[in-house]
Amino acid sequence: MQDINLQLVTTDRTRWPYAGEKDIEVSVLRLDKLHPVISGNKWFKLQFYLEEATGAKKSAIVTFGGAYSNHIIATAAACSLKGLASIGIIRGEEAPALSHTLQQAKHLGMQLCFISREDYAAKKIPPTLRDEDYYIINEGGFGETGAKGAAGIASYFNIEKFTHIGCAVGTGTMMAGLLNATSLKQNIIGISALKNNKDLEPAVRNLLHDKNRAVTILHDYHFGGYAKYKPDLISFMNDFFRTTGIPSDFVYTGKMFYAIADLIRRDYFPSGSKLLLIHSGGLQGNESLPKGTLIF
Ligand SMILES: *Cc1c(COP(=O)(O)O)cnc(C)c1O
Repeated sequence: MQDINLQLVTTDRTRWPYAGEKDIEVSVLRLDKLHPVISGNKWFKLQFYLEEATGAKKSAIVTFGGAYSNHIIATAAACSLKGLASIGIIRGEEAPALSHTLQQAKHLGMQLCFISREDYAAKKIPPTLRDEDYYIINEGGFGETGAKGAAGIASYFNIEKFTHIGCAVGTGTMMAGLLNATSLKQNIIGISALKNNKDLEPAVRNLLHDKNRAVTILHDYHFGGYAKYKPDLISFMNDFFRTTGIPSDFVYTGKMFYAIADLIRRDYFPSGSKLLLIHSGGLQGNESLPKGTLIF
């Protein structure tokens, strides 16, 4: 399989609708380009977990996710690259036809193990997988080791040039890493992909070196909930692609870009602001949409 190519990561200045009129500059960090399968922030979050597992000579990586999980596919691909065995504990009963994501994960050598939604919610590891030889990574790569990896994202752009950094939030691990890697001169704004998840702020704060740093997460751009969407979001994503040439995904980055466009329109950012938006990847998730929904 193709190796990770961090040299493909660029910071693209965009012609963002309305931003010019308001003297706001918007750039996008293209982490979606580093690998066709392990796109975006997942590589950064996984990096030190995989190092630890290799160092401790663990025989396999075990992790959790749903049928369309970017984390599952990224873990399968990263383990295949590193020569590690991987096991995915998947939420819910096995469907007669595997999702595109799970097919690919299986193809990459990941062993899939389906458990009921109740057991999944309780993060119950099936007895056969409770082997101390296995290295367990939390759902979404959540944790200090994940945040330490995500902090590495900040070395791919010139921090000093930006006043605000926008990112999508699932578990909050990437946001915590960005907060740890930047100073109070940068405002980090997280856009939650989940509905009413008020546990996010304390979860992020737990991973911070400076526990007093403000954690700004906006909760009003979920479009009905995690992995839900509305026609408004889809038409925004298509328009955004037409004007900027940048594809986005409907679970995370589409909602984040939409939120930032809305905030610019509503004068949330002072004139003269320089925004960096993290394109955290996730484009494989668009495969679950009906064909023709997106123009890219
Ligand atoms: C997983 C993911 C996120 C969320 O990252 P967290 O560290 O869990 O908050 C954001 N964007 C994309 C594309 C993702 O796949």
